Amino acid sequence: MKDLLLLLLLRTSITTSTTTSTSTTTSTTMTSLSQTQELFRRAEAVCFDVDSTVIKEEGIDELAKFCGVGDAVTEMTRKAMGGSVTFKTALTERLSIIRCSREQVNKLITDHPPQLTAGIKELVARLHKRNVKVFLISGGFRCIVEHVATQLDIPLDHVYANRLKFYFNGEYAGFDDSQPTAESGGKGRVISMLKEQYGFKSVVMIGDGATDLEACPPASAFIGFGGNVIRPQVKERSSWYVTSFGELLKELEKI
Ligand SMILES: [Mg+2]
Repeated sequence: MKDLLLLLLLRTSITTSTTTSTSTTTSTTMTSLSQTQELFRRAEAVCFDVDSTVIKEEGIDELAKFCGVGDAVTEMTRKAMGGSVTFKTALTERLSIIRCSREQVNKLITDHPPQLTAGIKELVARLHKRNVKVFLISGGFRCIVEHVATQLDIPLDHVYANRLKFYFNGEYAGFDDSQPTAESGGKGRVISMLKEQYGFKSVVMIGDGATDLEACPPASAFIGFGGNVIRPQVKERSSWYVTSFGELLKELEKI
């Protein structure tokens, strides 16, 4: 009898805990999407990744193609994505193949300027109108990202990216490895810095890649962007995943 009672009690407690955990999981997922949307509508700052988010292409691949080493660098990017190489090592290795001169970078920007993703200009303008601070945080190169920022009326001191270094004669001299964006986890460090510097309480990060997703936290929310390329692991882990900037503009119309 005692055993039966114990068994009954146990069964009841298991049933209760299962029910509780199921409803918690469901409500967390549900709230997460609406919470992310609300955080976006109320954000004090919005940070965008650049390659394959604000622009359609990957800056480093375009630079490599332009310098005639596209295939070698694409192969290296593929290997780096699947392996355990740090961001800095991967960047060092690819740049040591590209070895672009200052002149080549300038010519790339003039001849093949980065292509803005549809809707980004309107979205940034709308955010600015709402007094939201907009930042670009990129693992790509400052000289290219600054060109993008200018087109979007984003102040250049709101750009965080890697700096290429050149000798006086314009030859490639490496990159500034002291920039936070040169390291794995660098985007998160930039966001922590922004929160400290400006006192932002709510910062939203938007991007296509794993390094963007990993910046949340410290970002208050993350929005996955699949308008140029869909990365399944990012899509799966994003509480809000959009494939066009129109979806974000529509959300801003709510208030
Ligand atoms: Mg990207």
